[in-house]
Amino acid sequence: MKYYLLLIAAAAILAIGCKSETATYNADTSSDATTASSLNSETIRKHLAELSSDAYQGRMPCTEGGIKTYKYLESEMKKLGLKAAKGESYLQAVPLLTVESEIRPEMTVDFGTKKLNWQKSKDFIIHSERTDKEVSLTDSELVFCGYGIVDEKKGWNDYAGIDMKGKTAVILINDPGYGGDDPEFFNGDIMTYAGRWDYKYDTADKMGAAGLIIIHETSSAGYPWFVIQSSWTGPQQGLSGVDRSQDCGIKGWIHLDKAVELFTEAGLDFTTELKAARKPGFKPKSLGAKVTMGVDNAHKECISYNVAGYIPGAKYPDEYVVYTAHWDHIGIGKVVDGDSIYNGALDNASGVSTLLAMAEAYKSAPTPPERSVVFLLVTAEEQGLLGSEYYVENPIFPLDKTVCNLNMDGVNPIGEMNDLTITGKGHSEMDDYAERAARKQDRYVMAEQEPEKGYFFRSDHFNFAKKGVPALYAEGAYDHKTKGKEFAKEFRDNFINERYHAPADEYDPSEWIMEGMLQDGALYFDIGKTLANSRDWPKWYPNSEFSRTKS
Ligand SMILES: [Zn+2]
Repeated sequence: MKYYLLLIAAAAILAIGCKSETATYNADTSSDATTASSLNSETIRKHLAELSSDAYQGRMPCTEGGIKTYKYLESEMKKLGLKAAKGESYLQAVPLLTVESEIRPEMTVDFGTKKLNWQKSKDFIIHSERTDKEVSLTDSELVFCGYGIVDEKKGWNDYAGIDMKGKTAVILINDPGYGGDDPEFFNGDIMTYAGRWDYKYDTADKMGAAGLIIIHETSSAGYPWFVIQSSWTGPQQGLSGVDRSQDCGIKGWIHLDKAVELFTEAGLDFTTELKAARKPGFKPKSLGAKVTMGVDNAHKECISYNVAGYIPGAKYPDEYVVYTAHWDHIGIGKVVDGDSIYNGALDNASGVSTLLAMAEAYKSAPTPPERSVVFLLVTAEEQGLLGSEYYVENPIFPLDKTVCNLNMDGVNPIGEMNDLTITGKGHSEMDDYAERAARKQDRYVMAEQEPEKGYFFRSDHFNFAKKGVPALYAEGAYDHKTKGKEFAKEFRDNFINERYHAPADEYDPSEWIMEGMLQDGALYFDIGKTLANSRDWPKWYPNSEFSRTKS
């Protein structure tokens, strides 16, 4: 209903030849008329409807729908007149390796006098990133390695004094600050990167462990056991061509109940050991047991593509502001309410469409930006931020000349917000640029409301941060301009329960309200343009775990 009224209003205004307030949003609220520009809501709607339609089959990399997607984006970038990022081509090939691990049904833990037999899925989930067909560990000694963290700066080493060769590390999820009362110690309840499973995987690899088992605990992980079951079974994609022959052969998770059983059988009290692991000076501890477990792998290689175009800077073409949004989603899956296509309208056709509208706004501005502005649409985010990982490992534009990254992943479809919520607030001066832009829109800035869940580490900007490029990931989410906080919360809760990574994440033109997307798009446009027309190099705050030199 609302949509048709808007259409009629827009048509009427267009007919009499003046600028429609409903169709455009003034992206530059400063008085500098030479840079004034606007985002077009119809551009966003057009791309959104296209990319989230069933014809794109949920945009899974390497499928027909995935191929259709990058081809569409390539042709749209061409139409916009963006310069191809790679000479003649907008495409950066991202080689992917799909591994399907068939988990052997039992994991046995042998104490010599007693054996524990655990069942796959119910008690444990494991997989292997190796390219071998069969990967197994036989009688590998189990060692409790606390949180599996090695941090020289903090003088923290959960693997102190132990040679992990042939051994399997048993570790806790999250970091020692979680659940404590010192907000300074590992950032208190705010999850640090060391709390994430991907950090723990990497660290166990570096320590030369043969295997890694993470103890799942719902509140520390930020999600329940069934998420482990659903996300770590079935085909797993990784970057191809990475030598994993020296990495842990087997990685995975055990249920908390099994961890308690394991410690009890080892003559230890789980709670006491957990407390000890949170104190400095923790030493790894053998559990006096040997584990046997295995998987059978099937492999498939394929190539997907990042799509990138840019506007060369008029004055400093060798310096770059990089916008990102992932174009992929999770394809076709389990049928829910008669629908098997996971359209990913919000996640993340919304971000891609808003970025394309921004590119259009940059192109139609009367003067080009002084620094180059890059629009990078990455693949395989849902499979573990792979497209952006590949990009930062093989940057088209040098990372030390990249001023910042501005990432969009899920743009609010319910209208304008009073808040601008920064995920990972407190890391860099990007906060200050966001704050200034938000103020121009009469919005206030706040930090993410669930920092213990580690969302800062869960989208593409994180790969830029890891390489030292200051990154921003922000959106209006919690305080609806006219309908308030309760309304925003209701939408968010409903989305997470009913639509997140479900076939119901669809675009409904009668339901989607463009003003929120335009508001966030305009803000991102403003920040990017401000930085593109300045000599600034935003800095990381000294207390952040990231820094420019760390690349
Ligand atoms: Zn996403």
